[in-house]
Amino acid sequence: MKSHAKVVVIGGGVVGCSVLFHLARHGWTDVVLLERDELTSGSTWHAAGGMHTINGDPNVAKLQKYTINLYKEIEELSGQATGVHLTGGVLLAATEARLDWLRGVVSKGRYLGIDLEVISAKEAAELMPLIDPKQFVGAVRNKEDGHLDPSGVTHAYAKAARKLGAEVERFTKVEDIVRRPDGLWRVITNKGEVIAEHVVNAGGLWAREVGRMVGLELPVLAMEHMYLITEDMPEVADWNAKTGTEIIHAVDFDGELYLRQERGGMLMGTYEKANKVWSEFSTPWNFGHELLEPDIDRIAPSLEVGFRHFPAFQKTGIKQIINGPFTFAPDGNPLVGPVRGLPGFWVACGVMAGFSQGGGVGLALSNWMIEGDPGADIWAMDVARYGDWATMAYTNAKVRENYSRRFSIRFPNEELPAGRPLKTTPVYDTLAAKGAQWGVSYGLEVPLWYAPDGVKDEFSWRRSTDFDHVGKEVAAVRNCVGLSEISNFAKYTVTGAGAAAWLDRIFACKLPKRGRMTLAPMLKDDGKLIGDFTLANIDDNEWFIAGSGIAEQFHMRWFEAHLPKDGSVRIEAFGQKLTGLAIAGPRARAVLAKVTRADVSNAAFPFMAVARMDIGMAPCLVGRVSYTGDLGYEIWVAPEYQRAAYQALLAAGEEFGIGLFGSRALNALRLEKNYGSWAREYRPIYGPLEAGLDRFVAYGKDADFVGKQAALAERKQGGKLRLRAFIVDAGDADVIGDEAIWHDGAVQGWVTSGGYAHNAKKSVALGYVPKEIADNTDGFEIEILGKRHAARLQSAPLFDANFERMRG
Ligand SMILES: Cc1cc2nc3c(=O)[nH]c(=O)nc-3n(C[C@H](O)[C@H](O)[C@H](O)COP(=O)(O)OP(=O)(O)OC[C@H]3O[C@@H](n4cnc5c(N)ncnc54)[C@H](O)[C@@H]3O)c2cc1C
Repeated sequence: MKSHAKVVVIGGGVVGCSVLFHLARHGWTDVVLLERDELTSGSTWHAAGGMHTINGDPNVAKLQKYTINLYKEIEELSGQATGVHLTGGVLLAATEARLDWLRGVVSKGRYLGIDLEVISAKEAAELMPLIDPKQFVGAVRNKEDGHLDPSGVTHAYAKAARKLGAEVERFTKVEDIVRRPDGLWRVITNKGEVIAEHVVNAGGLWAREVGRMVGLELPVLAMEHMYLITEDMPEVADWNAKTGTEIIHAVDFDGELYLRQERGGMLMGTYEKANKVWSEFSTPWNFGHELLEPDIDRIAPSLEVGFRHFPAFQKTGIKQIINGPFTFAPDGNPLVGPVRGLPGFWVACGVMAGFSQGGGVGLALSNWMIEGDPGADIWAMDVARYGDWATMAYTNAKVRENYSRRFSIRFPNEELPAGRPLKTTPVYDTLAAKGAQWGVSYGLEVPLWYAPDGVKDEFSWRRSTDFDHVGKEVAAVRNCVGLSEISNFAKYTVTGAGAAAWLDRIFACKLPKRGRMTLAPMLKDDGKLIGDFTLANIDDNEWFIAGSGIAEQFHMRWFEAHLPKDGSVRIEAFGQKLTGLAIAGPRARAVLAKVTRADVSNAAFPFMAVARMDIGMAPCLVGRVSYTGDLGYEIWVAPEYQRAAYQALLAAGEEFGIGLFGSRALNALRLEKNYGSWAREYRPIYGPLEAGLDRFVAYGKDADFVGKQAALAERKQGGKLRLRAFIVDAGDADVIGDEAIWHDGAVQGWVTSGGYAHNAKKSVALGYVPKEIADNTDGFEIEILGKRHAARLQSAPLFDANFERMRG
């Protein structure tokens, strides 16, 4: 074994081998994979080997498509068979709600280049002969489904990597990992040490143990999972003989089942509701090639549905039941990327669909390690989407929920209950008593809307029970004044003698003067967005930043990686050590004036001013800015004062008819202003010009800000896309995001978010289209639930286009 390597990859499952292959293919060949046993000694060897392109997140779907297309290449390069059978498949819907969901999947597939087609249940039964068509209302055909040989694929990655110069050391167990003062890693094994610049944790079932070696508690947990293999079935033999083809894959969402042919019989797997965690706290090192005891009673309810939906199963025997563990993150997506605070330590774990995602994970991680950027939008897989709040018990609750809902519909207005409430603010109970309906953001309970007694969300793809109530909240803001909680923003403070110079380099905007704020885009080296913030200059050496709450860890990782080494700049994320309230609407100033002695007149405290002031008895930081696009104020207050500030504002607003509003009303309000938000309109694949944030980029400032050259090039060349707002001729359903945008009969773009703008009484969609058609006012259509609706370009904001209200 070599004593030094640029990279040590820990774990020889499908994921580790893919990472090794991708690093070598990308040119890093001084890389070694350490496996404690034979390759595939974790969850990989007993997988069902299914692969598919569909994923709830379009960017992950793209990487799944990449993975499936990769198998031919690694087979050729390695000479090792991967056993890929690209059979195609059907996704079955037993209810209209499920078919609505599938229509959304098809719409998404259109701009991802995934060939999907809605078909009838009868047509599905013609393709997959075991189906009882009476049990279904429709289906979607996917030509890119299939299965493979898990062990063959893993060895093909490893052999291909070796051919490219990488090394694989089997029977080499990593027992500890220690960071040296010079930043290199000592990877200590049962066979000696390897000193490495980078370490990748691809430990699969043991990812937690490997994480703990560097003091990291990763939010992953293994679940038991069962599939059965039947005896040979005459129906299968008949079909094979008649058509010369295999029986295609089927996913029966309502039965929570997946099926495929296995030799002369069928394989049927299920994500059962009564699921079981495996090795809750730690994974035994002596586990590897064993299977777990099957428990047919646990999967019996799913099998009953299966036998009804696929009657041929009633007449056949079960040859074998496989029960094996594999790991999940709380939301079921992988955990990939560099770990904040551990330079050179990377993770590639929690991969629950290794044969659909392993290639994409390897590609993204190798790009990230070598180029400094994953090269794709992998937010949905980024390890930084979790913070310290994702504790072991939280992970346990969420993983069990996610497993049991693997094939369940999640409606756009559906909030999942497990692991909640976890983080709450001091006004939580007060708002709950007012009827707050809660959502969750980065572990924090967030009021979505306020329901009268006895009313709650009815889950639907269409407008629902909240519609009129959200409309009233919007009206309160636009007609008088509304109060909302905004603690879910991420809040940071930057201090130190070097603060201004550093901010000037990290942000693309012009720095605001003392007592002022500005919108602050943050770019990567390639000129694409990596954040959008409000930056406030409190005191030249003290700065306040507010940004996307879900990206706090993501942004702290970026900030810290870019801090000067001389200690002249300090940055701290407040988390919930700072909470927030906001007031907005034409009477917002009158309310504020009643609770503070500060002069908040327009002359003394204009738009984008920031100052410390007391609200009632509570010391606060107040910024004159509002995401509602109205006259408004954001108020930052330590949690111990939040109730006092809230009560003072509510009491002061009573005479004006102040109303509470939640994040759904906020969405309706910001849509009228064409305001985008992080992780929807603003993501690391768009440039500031494309995203319409170029007006906040100070292209000419002296500071050589990160991404400046690339941003200048984008401005010169014009980029490729444009973010646009559309008014949709919708029926009873608005866009939710990820729908296809058509233009002149062809799919040209995608929706990033939208909804109903209650004040303007319009259904609004925001999305990206090619710049060449971005200024056409007509010819657009947006697909909602499988139907194309006429859409008109809306270039000027629907509300306050001249900023009179906001700045007045
Ligand atoms: C019953 C079942 C059916 C499944 N069906 C499918 C399917 O149809 N399609 C699909 O895509 N996925 C399926 N999966 C999931 C799939 O198996 C996983 O996504 C995949 O195996 C994850 O691979 P991995 O490399 O991350 O982890 P693992 O396979 O667990 O590999 C981790 C490796 O790391 C090694 N290791 C750990 N710690 C150390 C250490 N300290 N030192 C050295 N080596 C170490 C282990 O020995 C192991 O070989 C299924 C899983 C099960 C259990």
